[in-house]
Amino acid sequence: MDHATRLQYLEAMGIDVWVSRHQPVVVEQVVNVGYPQGHKWAEHSEAHRSHHEGASTNLDRWASLHSAQPTGSSHADEQTWHDLQQKVANCQACSLCETRTQTVFGVGSHHASWMLIGEAPGQNEDLQGEPFVGRAGQLLNEMLRAIGLSREEVFIANILKCRPPNNRDPQTAEVAACHDFLQGQIDLLKPKIILAVGRIAAQNLLNTQQSLAKLRGVRHQLEQIPLVVVHHPAYLLRSLTEKAKAWDDLQFALSVYQSLEQ
Ligand code: URA
Repeated sequence: MDHATRLQYLEAMGIDVWVSRHQPVVVEQVVNVGYPQGHKWAEHSEAHRSHHEGASTNLDRWASLHSAQPTGSSHADEQTWHDLQQKVANCQACSLCETRTQTVFGVGSHHASWMLIGEAPGQNEDLQGEPFVGRAGQLLNEMLRAIGLSREEVFIANILKCRPPNNRDPQTAEVAACHDFLQGQIDLLKPKIILAVGRIAAQNLLNTQQSLAKLRGVRHQLEQIPLVVVHHPAYLLRSLTEKAKAWDDLQFALSVYQSLEQ
């Protein structure tokens, strides 16, 4: 499908298209509202903003560098991925196995530098067996595209591998039961950067009850791996203001990633 047709499809579906600012095709101008004045990270984020204003114009220069690590994974690694996926598929460690249609392991490149971790599968994901496939998933793809990444170049997983009934929040025991699977994925992938997608994912990964507002715009660390918290795409479907905040989140993640390259 050519680019123009794709844009028409996305528009018809009501999906706002994310474009980096230097690109000529603008379906919707993203307004950068920035962090609230007087916010305790305002200074921090302003420093990053001036850095990443330039960052998006440098996108092409490093785009080829950031998506995937050198492909050197052995047959043994692939076998370990396969074994882990089988373990997830057969898991009965918590009651979610009784209500799931299927497990949702994760998707993407086993050589990705970027790992995105969401909360849990929703209805579409439960039916299709893949994370972030609904409307929010399409927006996530656009968010990725805005920082020069495709869905295939990153690895996308969730804290929980099974859908909680009625999309309720994950329970502590369910997160604990699923922990080793996510840990196994992180250990195998060894990403250079992790994006925690949404508040629930961030709070679980960072073992905190802090609000999303406090967690975003900060470089966290998960076992030596830089972790950045970004808005959940489902949240962004609500308003342009929220979408603008997500733009900031992504640009911040990009600046953190770029600092690793130096
Ligand atoms: N929300 C998530 O956090 N994960 C998904 O896979 C889908 C929606």
